Amino acid sequence: MSWVIMLEVAGILLSCLMTLILLHSTWNNQHAPGATSFFLLMILNISWLLGSTIQWNLRNINYVLSIFKLTYLFIAFIPVLFFIFSLQFTRQEHHISRRKILLLSILPLTTQVMTWTNQYHHLMWRSFKIVQHGIFNSVVSSFGLWFWIHTAYSYGLIVIALTLLARNVFHVSSLSRRQSLLVIFGISMPLILNTIFVFEIIPGFTLDITPICFALINPVVVYGLLRFRVFDLIPIHRNELIEGISDGILVVDHLDRITDLNPAACLIFDLDENSVIGKNILEKVPVLEPWLHYDELKTWQQPQIQFFIAGNPRYYSLRMSTLSSKAGTTVGRLIIVRNITRLKESELAEREARRIAENRSSELEALSQFAGALNHATTLEEVTTSGFHVLLSHVNASAAWLILTRNLTPPILAAVHTHDGSMDPASFDSSRCADCPSSGMIFSKQFSIHEITNCALLETITRDTEATPHHLCVPLHIGDRVLGSLNLAFYEPVQSEMVRRNFYTTIAQQLSAAIERTSLFEDVQRLAITDPLTGLFNRRHLAYLADRELRRAVRMDRPLAVIMMDLDHFKQVNDLYGHMTGDRILKEIALRCQQGLRQMDLLARYGGEEFIFLLPECDFERAVQVAERLREAISEAPFYTPSDLIWVTASFGVSAKIPGEEITLENMIQEADISLYSAKATGRNNVKA
Ligand code: GH3
Ligand code: MG
Ligand code: MG
Repeated sequence: MSWVIMLEVAGILLSCLMTLILLHSTWNNQHAPGATSFFLLMILNISWLLGSTIQWNLRNINYVLSIFKLTYLFIAFIPVLFFIFSLQFTRQEHHISRRKILLLSILPLTTQVMTWTNQYHHLMWRSFKIVQHGIFNSVVSSFGLWFWIHTAYSYGLIVIALTLLARNVFHVSSLSRRQSLLVIFGISMPLILNTIFVFEIIPGFTLDITPICFALINPVVVYGLLRFRVFDLIPIHRNELIEGISDGILVVDHLDRITDLNPAACLIFDLDENSVIGKNILEKVPVLEPWLHYDELKTWQQPQIQFFIAGNPRYYSLRMSTLSSKAGTTVGRLIIVRNITRLKESELAEREARRIAENRSSELEALSQFAGALNHATTLEEVTTSGFHVLLSHVNASAAWLILTRNLTPPILAAVHTHDGSMDPASFDSSRCADCPSSGMIFSKQFSIHEITNCALLETITRDTEATPHHLCVPLHIGDRVLGSLNLAFYEPVQSEMVRRNFYTTIAQQLSAAIERTSLFEDVQRLAITDPLTGLFNRRHLAYLADRELRRAVRMDRPLAVIMMDLDHFKQVNDLYGHMTGDRILKEIALRCQQGLRQMDLLARYGGEEFIFLLPECDFERAVQVAERLREAISEAPFYTPSDLIWVTASFGVSAKIPGEEITLENMIQEADISLYSAKATGRNNVKA
């Protein structure tokens, strides 16, 4: 075998191998657009190549002609397949149908008939001659009419196919553009060679090497195929992209009329695709109204819309961009709607969890501060002042007040606080609270929130008469024992306050405990300093108060007087009317004496029926006058018992500090006692100094 034949065989084998690789690749990518037609195109190409190879190497003229005619079986159908390929590759396969393929095949099939019946009509070839090209035999023919019809048809189809591919170049991404260009290049090369051959552009060029060129160009396409993965990256068709996408897509024209929409948009907005085209978008999708005046909507503007489907909220993000014509004029807008419900739900759940956590933490903070404030309080006033201050700084109530009902007595207003300060509860007539619905709540121990329409107290403490506040009433109790209620007035929304029931219940428990504690403490304090029979200060507390007063008088060099009073023959009163009556008279005397004193004067029970008066800012003469007045108050009116009138008198001893004098309380009492003794000695019912 000569080296030329070896080279030829090697070249053809290489071309076949390349074509097989290409076949394999297209077979593996059958789903890709154009893959099937490309596959068949390669089969026709390889068949043509093999046919031509055999033809060139045969020596028998008859066989050469037969094979030459056989190659037209492939040649005639290559343009049809290439045309189908171009339609598939450019995503226009919807134009392809069996009927159309059959119609396209009529001419190639006729060519087949013309080829094999040529000897009868010579319409395909008028004459043949076998020409020797080195070692190759080639058939040189003069073409008949049908050949030119076949050629015009084939070229026409190829030109249309190339036009489709070329148009595609301008409509696809740069990567796909390179793929399209590669295909155009791959097809154009054999076409150019074929044109040269058919039209004898180069004289003497009588060997049709188009199939070789086809085969040789195959490696280029294989390279492109492997390099760019042509069939994997071919642009996805609108139908697959737009129709299959889960985002809703709407296209509106410059008058906001719907011109296109995908199934997802129909589903989201509950639209019928056939009836909405041409309708104004606001008429069909009013929810877009707030956003439609924007030309462009970007994600940073966070445009979102919300619907309720079966009562459940659905959230969608919105994107909008202007569609411009090639001339640059705005022709409409593209609206893309994406379902972000799950994202939004998780965002809302996270926000809610954070809010709850923050609320819990601020409630804990408030409870801890509230407990701290109450811990330091020893009186009810301190409890309400510091406790309510903390409470009002943590909740958005406008006012807080305390109603107390001790031992089931009618409720009284014990404290009132607002953000501006506090009000003296004594200045408000508590009986006006009787009609308030919260008074009933106290005894039912029910936590309640209701609107306040006529609250005399709120009218007094707030200036806002327009708004209707909400009244939160939390009962205060220790076990079964009702103490009263904590009350708050809200001008803000109060839904969350109901949720914070536990918080207010804890506040109420702490407040109840503090009220109880301070109440007990105040009782103990009072018992320690007062005389249980008369309610006057006892001797110990007198000593404490008198010492303070005396030191002040000495320091300021102010007058101070002490009066000592002892009832006359009180033993006889007891003996005659009994101790009970004696006790009652002692109480009555304490009352009469208190009524005759100034606010600053002090009165204490010193012993059994002995009393001491401490009169600040009172000199000797004045003290004698006071003692005289007291003596008259006792002696000039009898004491009544159910059966008797009892006349009682008392004797008085007066002592006073002289300005500039340094004197002790003991000394003053001693002096007063001496004077009292003198009063007793001089007939009783009189005043001695
Ligand atoms: P005099 O005029 O000298 O003071 O005669 P008197 O009887 O009042 O004598 P004295 O001042 O010593 O009074 C003591 C009496 O006062 C004894 C007791 O009967 C009576 N007394 C003392 N404390 C009480 C008390 O708490 N209740 C009653 N009912 N009587 C008391
Ligand atoms: Mg006495
Ligand atoms: Mg006496």
